[in-house]
Amino acid sequence: MRLRMGTTLLPGGAGKYVLGVDPACPMCQVPLTAPHMLLHCPNHKATRDHLEVALHSHGLVLNLSNVLDTKGAARGPVFSALAKYLLDCLITEKI
Ligand SMILES: [Zn+2]
Repeated sequence: MRLRMGTTLLPGGAGKYVLGVDPACPMCQVPLTAPHMLLHCPNHKATRDHLEVALHSHGLVLNLSNVLDTKGAARGPVFSALAKYLLDCLITEKI
């Protein structure tokens, strides 16, 4: 995994990043939307695997509605994985 992408600060800062306001992804050069960050960005693939495992263990696929509006018993575990994912994204981007 590459830790340094040559970008030390996120455009707009961490708050906007979490809230899904759209600066550009420093790796992919596309708008940094919630779907990009949560589902598509190769920069976070390793961490995303944990999120995907949490979903799969409850019979869910990785998509935006399952991640952001998890139903039933999966809600707790998926939320924990999502929180870890977001934290990891922030750390990875800012190192
Ligand atoms: Zn990206």
